[in-house]
Amino acid sequence: FQFAAPANEPVYSYAPGSPEREALKKQLAAFKSQEFDIPMYIGDKEVRTGKTIDIRPPHEIKHKLGHFHEGDASHVKDAIAAALAARSKWADTPWEQRAAVFLKAAELVATKYRYHINAATMLGQSKNAYQAEIDSACEFIDFLRFNVHYLADIYKQQPYSPQGIHNRLEYRPLEGFVVAITPFNFTAIAGNLPTSAALCGNVVVWKPAYTQVLAAHVIMQILKEAGLPDGVINLVYTDGPVLGDVCFSHPDFAGIHFTGSTSVFQQMWKTIGTNIHKYKTYPRIVGETGGKDFVLAHKSADADVVAIALARGAFEYQGQKCSAASRAYLPSNIAEAVKTRLVAELKTMKMGTTEDFSNFINAVIDERSFDKIANYIDNAKKDPAAKIIAGGNYNKAEGYFIEPTVIEVTDPKYVTMCEEIFGPVLTIYVYEADKFEEIMDILDTTSAYALTGSIISQDRYAIDRATARLVNAAGNFYINDKPTGAVVGQQPFGGARASGTNDKAGSALNLYRWLSARTIKETL
Ligand code: GLU
Repeated sequence: FQFAAPANEPVYSYAPGSPEREALKKQLAAFKSQEFDIPMYIGDKEVRTGKTIDIRPPHEIKHKLGHFHEGDASHVKDAIAAALAARSKWADTPWEQRAAVFLKAAELVATKYRYHINAATMLGQSKNAYQAEIDSACEFIDFLRFNVHYLADIYKQQPYSPQGIHNRLEYRPLEGFVVAITPFNFTAIAGNLPTSAALCGNVVVWKPAYTQVLAAHVIMQILKEAGLPDGVINLVYTDGPVLGDVCFSHPDFAGIHFTGSTSVFQQMWKTIGTNIHKYKTYPRIVGETGGKDFVLAHKSADADVVAIALARGAFEYQGQKCSAASRAYLPSNIAEAVKTRLVAELKTMKMGTTEDFSNFINAVIDERSFDKIANYIDNAKKDPAAKIIAGGNYNKAEGYFIEPTVIEVTDPKYVTMCEEIFGPVLTIYVYEADKFEEIMDILDTTSAYALTGSIISQDRYAIDRATARLVNAAGNFYINDKPTGAVVGQQPFGGARASGTNDKAGSALNLYRWLSARTIKETL
């Protein structure tokens, strides 16, 4: 008997005139006309500290959506205490009952709160309707459903028992609490990092990015309505170092589920290392930490296919994906055709607010990101070794808007070919069409990251050669496609090198990290 895998949640198109478009517009208007007062959720309490931070759409910074209440070290301590108090009951809850909570949450997102969570993501994180739909509705739902499916498979994996002996593996949760730290760029990741650990029977202290609090609040309310017991996931808003100081020096710290920057992850790892003698058990350290993702076109590639992969891969969600195509290697024979098509394609991408559904490009997340990205563009403008071939303008009067920008460089190790920018900036290097092996050597040693990458080619030999030669250059490798948009259950996601611990989100490989198996031998 084989259990069928769940199907991926169908993606709504929000086509003009469709009922779902109207429903989403209504929800956006409703969210814009109310003023959110968002508490932390610690145990059975909603905690309002009075120290509030405003929430504003990145594309309309003069509009206030409301505020959230910031906590301090005492709230982190309370969250840990609430988690530990809930631990034994949750760990002892039959796993099917734990699963039911998350399947119910998936159902609630699919049928009741789809527009809420999409509107929160569109307004809070400046994501267009389609990008919000594939993230906060579909990918979140898929994480919840597929994780249950994979966990059911894991529990079934049992050792051999010869006659007279009953051997078994008991998949216990970790002994302590898990910390989840989530990034602004995906609501689905915010949903997945705390819930995957909790599904396995763990209790969690969850800190989202400050620019993601509106979506985190909606997720938490959905989990509560789905029946998540108090204390299993505790949602706090504090500075990263405040959270780290308390959590990483606690004897019951058992693991971290992180998505964010390499430097923060490495700093946390060091702190955890320094404190290692303080913990009851070796903590699990799981992190996805960025990318400098490539598109390598072979001389056999169709120029249009390359241009579309770049336009979508580099500029969806303003390039604010760890997986975004940010460096392209174009062979000299098709380079001009690719650039012409790409520049034409970018002209069709309208930029503006998320509430106007015809805008493909919205704002980048905040002023810090805006300034950092603008600085890369300014430096390229001044540098004779770089040429801006599309975009290059930016403006933060109304919101943090940066045009999709393409830089062409003559040095394949130019700074924007190496560093993660996390914005709508793509850098192109044109190589001599016959130097395919040489360009792969350069590509593989240009950046410290290894998250995603694409080979585009109509030549089977070149595809196979790139797949073999670039074996460690990307954890998610795409053939004749853009390097973004991994689908749960289809392309387990994660990379190695400086991109993270490669514990593929949305797969059994990830769930194993939240389980600590006990082997039991019983002599009969
Ligand atoms: N899973 C996403 C994708 O495949 C990227 C996630 C991220 O940016 O962290 O595009």
